[in-house]
Amino acid sequence: MDVSSALVARKPTRQISVGNVKVGGDAPITVQSMTITKTADVEGTLQQIYALAAAGADIVRCTCNETEAAEGLAQIVPRSPVPIIADIHHQYKMALAAMEAGVHGLRLNPGNIRRPEHIKAVAAEAKDRGIPIRIGVNAGSLDPSLYEKYGSATPEAMVESAQQEIAYFDEVGFEAIKISVKASSVPLMVEAYRQLSEVTDHPLHLGVTEAGPPPAGLIKATAGIATLLMEGIGDTIRYSLTADPVEEARAGRQLLEALGLRERKNVDLIACPSCGRAEVDVIEVANRAMEAFADREIPLQIAVMGCVVNGPGEARDADLGIAAGNKRGHLFVKGQNVAVVPEDEMVDQLVEWAEFIQEHGVEAALARVDLVKAAREAEKDRARLLDEQGADVNHSGEKIVEIRKTTR
Ligand code: SF4
Repeated sequence: MDVSSALVARKPTRQISVGNVKVGGDAPITVQSMTITKTADVEGTLQQIYALAAAGADIVRCTCNETEAAEGLAQIVPRSPVPIIADIHHQYKMALAAMEAGVHGLRLNPGNIRRPEHIKAVAAEAKDRGIPIRIGVNAGSLDPSLYEKYGSATPEAMVESAQQEIAYFDEVGFEAIKISVKASSVPLMVEAYRQLSEVTDHPLHLGVTEAGPPPAGLIKATAGIATLLMEGIGDTIRYSLTADPVEEARAGRQLLEALGLRERKNVDLIACPSCGRAEVDVIEVANRAMEAFADREIPLQIAVMGCVVNGPGEARDADLGIAAGNKRGHLFVKGQNVAVVPEDEMVDQLVEWAEFIQEHGVEAALARVDLVKAAREAEKDRARLLDEQGADVNHSGEKIVEIRKTTR
């Protein structure tokens, strides 16, 4: 099966440029995040921007809520490794100040800047400077007249809010727009984006707002964003988590990699869920492996499996893996056993082999060992485990016989 066919073809949108990063059209889907420092704290904010970029953010947003923040942006923008967007809420003058500071984009909340002349003044200035603007509709801060008209923050109300703002921009001939219609309710935001994508070809910025702390926040954000991406909707994404923003950037990148929408940059660690056969604490080894690979840009799939009975077979598609057996670890490359290592060296050896494969390739890794010997050792431990535990380690067969007796 061609797995890419599981995703609906991406809906064509116009393309805009946020600094040197393209959004929309055939550009890769990008990851955004937002700093949580005071923007006036230039060094602290830059440190966070660098951390976000390293974790996978392509674009970073900073609040511009006061003059000191705009002044901070003037120093941050030239030193940032990624384009910077200024987040503007109530004061349109802050949008003008942020543009003066050299930001690469603006985010305006139409619920908070309502006077048409202010919106048009910002759009005209952005047009002159070639800066794009995101219309950031939020279900929690719609214009009161829309709440009145629709009774609550419905998808229709959110789409109308975006359309009203687009109309103001149209009046001054401003087209470099992307749009978001975020809500903290997943079904509401999904439906709002679906409706919006029917009526506009401006690029869409996806997000579940105020998703909350992980893990529930991660699940909500993933449910909303992934649903839309699978339907071909969305050009840039942001996880809004109550957590270190580095987690947002990492989650965004990981989601795109998991869906095959961005090239893998880091290890894809797979691990068995463990069971009665496990010869090690799989959770502990997997966590240690996650930590060991966290800062290494090694785009391989690596497996941590609890036993040598089923591990290498179940993870045969992984580039590299380890399966525990008889107080030692059996390393395998593409399902073939390559080495036996002491249990306490399993993670270190995984790292060493992963680095070797990244540099020299799978064939070279297989060529450097005695495959027959490694397979023999693995078979020895496999046979011992089967001998001790039997083929049905969880005794399901016996239980089924008992169940049948009691229900007969
Ligand atoms: S059979 Fe082995 S590899 Fe499969 S879940 Fe159990 S311990 Fe993990």
